[in-house]
Amino acid sequence: MSDGTVLDLVRSDLRAFAGYSSARSSALVGDVWLNANESAWANPADAQGIARRYPEPQPEALRARLAALYGCSADQLLIGRGSDEAIDLLVRALCEPGRDAVLVTPPVFGMYAVCARLQNAPLLEVPLRDAGAALEADIDAIIAAALAGNAKLVFLCTPSNPAGSTISLDDIERVARALQGRALVVVDEAYGEYAEQASATSLLAHRDNVAVLRTLSKAHALAAARIGSLIAAPALIQTLRRCQAPYPVPAPCTALALAALEPAALEVTASRVAQIKAERGRLAAALQQAPGVVLVYPSQGNYLLVRFNDAQAAFDALLAAGVVVRDQRAAPQLHDALRITVGSPEENDRVLQVLSARRAAA
Ligand SMILES: *Cc1c(COP(=O)(O)O)cnc(C)c1O
Repeated sequence: MSDGTVLDLVRSDLRAFAGYSSARSSALVGDVWLNANESAWANPADAQGIARRYPEPQPEALRARLAALYGCSADQLLIGRGSDEAIDLLVRALCEPGRDAVLVTPPVFGMYAVCARLQNAPLLEVPLRDAGAALEADIDAIIAAALAGNAKLVFLCTPSNPAGSTISLDDIERVARALQGRALVVVDEAYGEYAEQASATSLLAHRDNVAVLRTLSKAHALAAARIGSLIAAPALIQTLRRCQAPYPVPAPCTALALAALEPAALEVTASRVAQIKAERGRLAAALQQAPGVVLVYPSQGNYLLVRFNDAQAAFDALLAAGVVVRDQRAAPQLHDALRITVGSPEENDRVLQVLSARRAAA
């Protein structure tokens, strides 16, 4: 198997799977809807009646706005309950249990391994390479391990959570080319808004084994709305849609997301992203000077990975002051590291106050 279409990567037993046939079909036209056992009246709590009927499976207005936002066409985009659902869907639809592997690059976001485990898909781990001042994806090792280990999915997280490093589009393309016909390369851009690098969406024009994950959870401040996007070849999107829950996008969440994608809201989001990027620089520089800090990794996300002389003491001091950060010490290569989200200027000042005050103790 060298060439072929991206559908060859879908589990053979699912390629012709029709999925659930929903009550919302564009083939049906009427003004009295009695086909889905919905209530005849809105709930008194639902003043505008937006929740009475089952929603569109893929709300077309939102799909069009997200496609415009991410620079793809609507038929290349699948909306899910966060990008978490897209990760789960990809693993379930592509990996034959016990056979097709999922490749990850630890230390990295944990959901890829969780979904692989649930599907009983073998997990291939290619650790980030410690280049001293950065933890970086090891492209040659990724390609070699994917080919040797029968990877069906390769998750590339860029900017990397928690390491903060990015993978160039040339390197992503190189992985996709090497794995053409064998694996789908999934580029997780959950923090893409904070990065200088362009989105991998542009690679889809000539690489059908590339997929991109985007989300409204981080830069767009809508984590609780659970709106994530998978961008991939239209044929793959259609197939995954048939494997997805019938009505994955709640109408109130669609309304919230549409409002967040209005020009005025997008302008506010852009200015907040700019502010976080400035704060990221300020916080990194100040932390590098703080007592007990060994290394602050450069980051293209809205977080900093920091190594400490005594990460437990730093974590405890922050917690005692009411500041909760992410303990990374259980992750491979990160036995002395914490991940600190870049917050508002006041929140970042709190972090710096706590860590600087330790000078006396240290
Ligand atoms: C936060 C995060 C996600 C999850 O995003 P949702 O859209 O909220 O599910 C995905 N990938 C990475 C790397 C993340 O850090």
